[in-house]
Amino acid sequence: MFDIFCPVEKLRVLLSAGDILRIERTDKGIEIHYRCPCGHEGMVQTGRK
Ligand SMILES: [Zn+2]
Repeated sequence: MFDIFCPVEKLRVLLSAGDILRIERTDKGIEIHYRCPCGHEGMVQTGRK
């Protein structure tokens, strides 16, 4: 599980594995595409070099 900042609710939301749509590796790091429990989809980058 990890937490994201929800731009809709404007607060931090804890996501579980079931909320993650896919994970992509890019040059800039790892992109985690998720569906927020409040309904929208978003992406966070992690694992910066
Ligand atoms: Zn949200």
